[in-house]
Amino acid sequence: MITLREITGYLEGLAPLSLQESYDNSGLQVGEPGQEVSGVLVVLDVSEEVLLEAERLGFNLVVSHHPVIFGGLKSITGRSTPERIVKLAIQKEIAIYSGHTNFDSVSGGVNTALANRLGLVDQKILDPVSSSLKKLVVFVPLAQLEQVRQAIFEAGAGEIGIYDSCSFSLEGTGTFRGGEGSNPFAGKAGVFHQEAEARLETIVPANLVNRVVRAMTAAHPYEEVAYDIYPLENTDPQRGMGLIGKLEHPMDEEVFLSFLKDRFHTGVIRHSVLLGNEVKQVAVCGGAGSFLLAKAKAAGADVFVTGDMKYHQFFEAEGKIVVMDIGHFESEQFTRELFYDLLIKKFPKFAVRLSETEQNPIKYF
Ligand SMILES: [Zn+2]
Repeated sequence: MITLREITGYLEGLAPLSLQESYDNSGLQVGEPGQEVSGVLVVLDVSEEVLLEAERLGFNLVVSHHPVIFGGLKSITGRSTPERIVKLAIQKEIAIYSGHTNFDSVSGGVNTALANRLGLVDQKILDPVSSSLKKLVVFVPLAQLEQVRQAIFEAGAGEIGIYDSCSFSLEGTGTFRGGEGSNPFAGKAGVFHQEAEARLETIVPANLVNRVVRAMTAAHPYEEVAYDIYPLENTDPQRGMGLIGKLEHPMDEEVFLSFLKDRFHTGVIRHSVLLGNEVKQVAVCGGAGSFLLAKAKAAGADVFVTGDMKYHQFFEAEGKIVVMDIGHFESEQFTRELFYDLLIKKFPKFAVRLSETEQNPIKYF
């Protein structure tokens, strides 16, 4: 038996809700965390058709990229489309979970799926977030140093880019005196004690601090563990919007446009003026990415692949980059496979399907 809580907990472990944009409403939309899940249907957008498809399959969870409750609902009368979807989901007892801008903001998320589709190498976050990391410092007796170090690594501390198990330790002397009722691991209660200790330090993503502190105190021999958590100003190379990467084999702009069409099954690409350059570096942002155009230019990208660009925004290419708008749906279509792959990897025996009724709401004539 798998509960909704296990599935949402897993997805939020990969892309914490704290990473979502302020305007967003990612997370559980409809459903009770404790309910048993019979199967998952994966979509970009929830619709009434999608809910009926889930019902036909006997599935009671829909995982979507775009939240169905976005600006908030004041009533559920069935007057608007989101109201009708929520009403039907409750009637059919189908839960809805959405992973939106939190999945746009992690490496391994929406933009990784897009960049992988283009075969980009040396992928880097285009606009890394800052202040999502904390420094953890703990003082440990030397004999228990390695057990504490391993416990905090296993709980998710110490990852820097593609390196894990990163820490630093320095030996020194700790002092303490146990008060009434104490039972010190070393020395005697009421007697001033000096102990050879290490100062162990590492970094922890903000959303994992509680888990790491629990693992650390469980592995630490002292009754009272001395530790500090510091806020950091560092940018986080693993988190943030957009990606930039290199093509293994540079292409002419027109060849790249054909390649894009082929990889994203689209008949139309709106693009800014071609510059006659070779395309080597490619910046991407799934969905509406105009807010990252300046970052893409500053990072030296030859092209910027995204969706939902407006007329005036094409002028902002300013002869420095070629903007290629492949469409919102097209740029995010592989997000469905991303959710599918993540869920199947974690719950291999579980029923997960991609929706067959969902379609791009925009048609081209
Ligand atoms: Zn989108």
